[in-house]
Amino acid sequence: MPPASPSKAPPVRVDLLSDTLTKPTDAMRKAMADAPVGDDVFGEDPTVRELEQRVARMFGHEDGLFTPSGSMANQLGIRLHVKPGEELIADSLAHVLRAEMGAAAVLSNISARSWIAPHGELNAAQPLALMIPDGGAYQVNTRLVVVENTHNFGGGTVQPLDQIEALRAGTKERGVAMHLDGARIWNAHVATGVPFETYGRLFDTVSVCLSKGLGAPVGSVLLGSADHMQEARIWRKRFGGGMRQVGILAAAGLHALDHHVERLADDHARARRFAEAAAVARPDSVDPQWVQTNIVLLDVAGAGWTPGDFVTAAAARGIRLYPVSTTAVRLVWHLDVDDAATDLAISELVPLLERGSR
Ligand SMILES: *Cc1c(COP(=O)(O)O)cnc(C)c1O
Repeated sequence: MPPASPSKAPPVRVDLLSDTLTKPTDAMRKAMADAPVGDDVFGEDPTVRELEQRVARMFGHEDGLFTPSGSMANQLGIRLHVKPGEELIADSLAHVLRAEMGAAAVLSNISARSWIAPHGELNAAQPLALMIPDGGAYQVNTRLVVVENTHNFGGGTVQPLDQIEALRAGTKERGVAMHLDGARIWNAHVATGVPFETYGRLFDTVSVCLSKGLGAPVGSVLLGSADHMQEARIWRKRFGGGMRQVGILAAAGLHALDHHVERLADDHARARRFAEAAAVARPDSVDPQWVQTNIVLLDVAGAGWTPGDFVTAAAARGIRLYPVSTTAVRLVWHLDVDDAATDLAISELVPLLERGSR
């Protein structure tokens, strides 16, 4: 076989593929180099413990557990609440159902059902109608509802606090647990001003990611009760996630919490500015009302594009995007996309929308 021919696409000038692309800043690397470390499997890494306890306090939980990925944090959280043969429910676009490779089924023998949530937005009545906590010996017992905030494949949607509260009231009454997939809860907090603790206290367990918009190279934290975290620590080791001197990674997370949370507002403003320019050119491509944080879902079908062809045309202009559905592409703003890069994305992509695919 001849080697694959090198890509003809020009260099990437603006990378809007994902907020996971961010690289550690020089200051973050310095903090990592300086971090005290120990063997975290023995619970002896002081920087890891500092991160776990700090995030737990922020969200009003007893303890935390550092994990190598958001998927592992979510899957540990799910595992704590649901036994083999029982179920979780989540909306049909949820990351835990769509982007964790069937982990709940494969690793924990858990089944799932879902409801359809436009833009991924939570309407508490839907999961409350779907859940069957008292299925007995005939129907699968629902043990957990997973809520994603902000909602990735929904387009960075912020979940309405009153709906989370209504869901909490309804699940509490019927003995169903709630897990927050808070990979981007930072963005929800910055967009709404709702305190982390207000979000945290509405859930039995919470997962947060340090490696998305916060710009750390690795790391998530699972939060919950001390008992739950002790149990999750055993399962983390069993899943192969016991790590050693990872204070160097936890230090990146601590640095991100100190320096990269409030700046998310810049990402939100830039995403909104792009959406407004796109909506002027083609009102059917995006409703800026639904661009609440750092993600834009751009519907390119109305302009006659398939998402794949639009991604290729954008790549030829040095802009990298992700084809997220059969009609839309996804653009994600982050630490490494500034105002000038946003202007460039507007000047290169809006004409593609205006002229259509011909
Ligand atoms: C990124 C992400 C995760 C975690 O993904 P990993 O790649 O496993 O770190 C979880 N939930 C949501 C909503 C995400 O966007």
